[in-house]
Amino acid sequence: MEKADAIIIRQADFSESSRVVTLFSREFGKFGCLAKGAKRLKGPFDAALDLLSTCRIVFIRKSSGALGILTQATLVRRFAPVPTNIHSLYGGYYVADLLCKLTEDFDPDARIFDAAERVLSELSDPEADPPTAIVQFEITLLRLTGHFPDLTTCNVCGEPVQLTGKFAHWVSQGGVLCVTCRRPEFEGKSISAGSLAILQKLADGESSFAARVRLSREQIAECHQLSVSVITSVLGRKPGTLQYLKF
Ligand SMILES: [Zn+2]
Repeated sequence: MEKADAIIIRQADFSESSRVVTLFSREFGKFGCLAKGAKRLKGPFDAALDLLSTCRIVFIRKSSGALGILTQATLVRRFAPVPTNIHSLYGGYYVADLLCKLTEDFDPDARIFDAAERVLSELSDPEADPPTAIVQFEITLLRLTGHFPDLTTCNVCGEPVQLTGKFAHWVSQGGVLCVTCRRPEFEGKSISAGSLAILQKLADGESSFAARVRLSREQIAECHQLSVSVITSVLGRKPGTLQYLKF
């Protein structure tokens, strides 16, 4: 028996009464569990297993990749998206999707768990700005999973790229390209040197900078564009949950 604090990041029907849930926990990272009786109205988990709920759980861990068995789940916090902001709900789905796809089973990192809790709480806050919260989460997750690219060099030739002035860079192939390496067949968008410099600082994990910085709409869109380019190149395709997020 193991105990953990975990966020429900995926659910799938398993049988008439049971579900398989994927959890992202502070103690063990991501893993799947069979939740027997989870679909019954008065089941053993009540409503603790809703998507993006944070729960205190007890589970039986099985060896060699077999599904664990969830034995208890107590609701700590329910994800409550802001009804008037579509980015709030779909941002939550996107966060769950990224946690599913960019993390490995049983590879814990409490900082990722904390970042996930923070973004979900911001997405539930009518005063917060969902695009800013989502972009900060994207960058944090890419950094902590080791996927954040080196923005100081061209992704193709490795030559240094300028981070100052009005210089714009092409975002493609999961990084930035210098002027000579751009190709018409590479899909991409330009990103300003200013946004690149901000991204670099955010990726360095300077929390004081992250708390202080106020990004413009244009910078958020550019930073999101770069994050999506990196995520797409890591996964081999765009995350499906992205289609409803328009920054
Ligand atoms: Zn180059």
